[in-house]
Formats: sequence, C-alpha cells, structure tokens
Amino acid sequence: MPSDKKLIIKEENCPKNHRCPAVNICPVGALSQQGFGVPAVDYGKCIKCGKCSGFCPKKALVLDAGN
Ligand code: SF4
Repeated sequence: MPSDKKLIIKEENCPKNHRCPAVNICPVGALSQQGFGVPAVDYGKCIKCGKCSGFCPKKALVLDAGN
C-alpha cells in the first residue's frame, strides 16, 4: 500500500555513543550504522513500518506522517 509517510533521521537527537538498537529490529535491513554514528536509512528498502522509531529512546528515528 502506498504511503506518504517517511522515516526521518533526527541527527541532533542521537548521542552517537552506542550501538543503535533499531538496526537489528528493522525487518527489511534498511538501517545501517557506521561505528556509533547516526544510523542511515536505505529508502529503497524501508517499508515505513515504524518499528525502528519505537526502539530509539532518543526519538532520533521518527516516522513522519507528512503534512
Ligand atoms: S520504518 Fe521499518 S522498514 Fe523502515 S527503517 Fe524503520 S524498521 Fe526498517
């Protein structure tokens, strides 16, 4: 089903000092992380399920509903 939602990475919310718990939660492997950096999303893979956003305690991964 098409969706206007988009996963937004809020870099400023990420303390960049730990392994991102959301990376292994993504069912389609759309998230990746270099070291302890801000995770990156592969928008070609992301199905906008929102699972990762629930796993980020800092709210750095936000599934935006659009305007
Ligand atoms: S919204 Fe779902 S598919 Fe997209 S990156 Fe997050 S967990 Fe993966």
